[in-house]
Amino acid sequence: MSDRPLPRDDLRALEGYHSPQVEVVVRLNTNESPFPPPEGFVERWTAALRALPFHRYPDRAATELRVALGEFLGQPPARLFCANGSNEVLQTLLLTYGGPGRCAAMFEPTYALHEHISRITGTGVVAGERGAAFAVDVAAASDLIRRSRPSVVFVCSPNNPTGTVEPRPTVEALADIAASHGALLVVDEAYGEFAPWSAIDLVDDDRPLAVVRTYSKVWSLAAVRLGYAVAPRWVVEELDKVVLPYTLSAPTQLAGRIALDFRPEMERRVASLVEERGRLFSALAELAGVMAFPSGANFVLVRVRGDAHQVWRRLLERGVLVRDFSRWPRVEGCLRVTVGTREENDTFLAAFREVLAEEEGR
Ligand code: PMP
Repeated sequence: MSDRPLPRDDLRALEGYHSPQVEVVVRLNTNESPFPPPEGFVERWTAALRALPFHRYPDRAATELRVALGEFLGQPPARLFCANGSNEVLQTLLLTYGGPGRCAAMFEPTYALHEHISRITGTGVVAGERGAAFAVDVAAASDLIRRSRPSVVFVCSPNNPTGTVEPRPTVEALADIAASHGALLVVDEAYGEFAPWSAIDLVDDDRPLAVVRTYSKVWSLAAVRLGYAVAPRWVVEELDKVVLPYTLSAPTQLAGRIALDFRPEMERRVASLVEERGRLFSALAELAGVMAFPSGANFVLVRVRGDAHQVWRRLLERGVLVRDFSRWPRVEGCLRVTVGTREENDTFLAAFREVLAEEEGR
């Protein structure tokens, strides 16, 4: 057989994204919203779709979406960049500010795609450690940035998979350190709406700070694939050059704009999920042999005594799928549970109690 073309040397050791997509009754493994979007949204979106000129390319600049999002966030549209999910936003940021000869810093344990997309874009990876209770330690972070000179610094807040929310002074300090070292601070706020504060208010044209958000969680639109960055206009100008032309389909742009008219529904859902998170956390905290970590997101990380992978499998046998982090460095023995509907959370808790009792008895 002739020689097959080989992928780049630096990609050969890379593993793809692994999160099982299986049909189960209770799916609490990928932090989606447990609620479909409001009926009214689906009606307005589908009506708007029917009126689209499908034979034409979409608006390359996504102007109406940017204007609407800008109004929604209190930011000028020139500070908004939209793409297919926040993963594509992160990729565009790395294609623009990372690349060969450059590196990105991140604080582990954190969202695996920060490292993965860095590697795919040929960007070096510098991993710092989180401090007590999984919070970023500003002194250690400053030291890391000074020594390794990254061009991008990632901070995920609320952090996936730990749920940790960084305090405002930490983000301000990191932005200052990034600024004095020519780096861009990227705050990944995929779960920002569930947290008590947002770094979006810190974005201005004089600070090298980009905040990344998604429609996949609170807007119940994971299937649509839409995310955005709020960043200084000089960052957005560069991202616009790098991203593929017409990347954002007309249906996606419409969905993003129309969804914003359903703000009260979205806020009610966030409030109810935050309440459920509290209930789930309290129930978990009462269980013997379980340690739940405080979360500002729509999930809770729990460390279980015994064989966590086995617990995960037994939950799956009962039709409950959570995320297995049991073999991940720094979160060994942990499972991550997405906050679902009240009924889903009750089903999970009942199954979890049963499995833990069985494991204790073994
Ligand atoms: N950032 C974080 C921290 C996430 O957890 C996720 C989704 N799991 C994303 C970004 C990507 O979300 P999406 O591409 O669906 O917008």
